[in-house]
Amino acid sequence: ENKPTTRMVEAHELLKKFYHHLLVNTKEGQQAYDYLIERGFSRETIDEFEIGFSLDSWEFMTKFLTKRGFQLTEMEKAGLLVKRAKDGAFFDRFRGRVMFPIADLQGKTVAFSGRLIENIEGQPKYLNSPETAIFNKGKTIYNFHRAKKHIRKNQQVLLFEGFADVISAVKAECPNAIATMGTALTDEQAKIIRRNVESVVICYDSDHAGIEAAYKAANILTSVGCTVKVAVMPQGYDPDDYIKEQGPERFRNEVIDGSLTFMSFKMRYLRRGKNLQNEAERMKYIEDVLKEISQLTKAVEQEHYLRQLSQEFSISLDALQQQKNQISSLSG
Ligand code: ATP
Ligand code: MN
Ligand code: MN
Ligand code: MN
Repeated sequence: ENKPTTRMVEAHELLKKFYHHLLVNTKEGQQAYDYLIERGFSRETIDEFEIGFSLDSWEFMTKFLTKRGFQLTEMEKAGLLVKRAKDGAFFDRFRGRVMFPIADLQGKTVAFSGRLIENIEGQPKYLNSPETAIFNKGKTIYNFHRAKKHIRKNQQVLLFEGFADVISAVKAECPNAIATMGTALTDEQAKIIRRNVESVVICYDSDHAGIEAAYKAANILTSVGCTVKVAVMPQGYDPDDYIKEQGPERFRNEVIDGSLTFMSFKMRYLRRGKNLQNEAERMKYIEDVLKEISQLTKAVEQEHYLRQLSQEFSISLDALQQQKNQISSLSG
């Protein structure tokens, strides 16, 4: 007989196809389908990413799996069903949601993320499968199996926050797009990325959370040997919004091609909330930047940013060099 994990994957593959069928061929799926079209996803995109819809029912999935001979306890372990505490009955985890199948690195479907069509008070916008024998969030990368050959060919990967961002990016002719599972980038994910490519463009949401997360992800990626750039968009946009409002060409030419080196991004980051007209704050900023410059391993890069500082604040290169050396001997 098959191993439990094989059956778990089988159930996911079957459900993926059935959810997709419900979305594109049935009356029950119509509202979800309209929602996706309204968002700007084409039928082609829906097919390519095998997007689906889970019925608004407590027992649809449970019955579907039973009919096909799957053990409910095993399906609960697979994250597809939930066991009710009071009577031990099983019910569907995903109900009335747009379903995004999540594949492992080899392309096998191992989890789902389900999005509400309309906000419901007290319910999460995205509901993900829990960690299971076949789904390890920290080692899973959305769209990696499809993006891999493009990542290697372009020698660059674009890292996003959300599934919708990845899908829009692929449609905008950026097939080298991936995302984490709605959680912070892990060391394991960074190492998987590094095994395939050196150059990473981080393209997170342009809000407070996105900027903080980009900073952390950039540090992790740098520490595994990646060369990192950070794309910046006008405040409040996420890549999906941007592509829809400003178009794919502007996204590629301005956001991706205009992305900042990690050091330039850090300089912007260190600037936020500071009034550089104020002398003390300006000095603090310069010191913060010098600290970062002293960490750069390439002399040419150090010189480049020192010159930039020197020009912006009309301080001699000599003075900046001296202070930088002081800082590095202190932290050394
Ligand atoms: P959409 O455009 O559909 O609203 P988004 O990707 O812009 O989605 P964000 O709010 O920016 O959504 O969140 C980024 C990512 O974080 C999502 O793609 C999802 O993976 C994850 N996420 C968001 N909200 C939740 C939640 N309530 N529970 C779990 N994960 C979530
Ligand atoms: Mn966000
Ligand atoms: Mn977003
Ligand atoms: Mn979005």
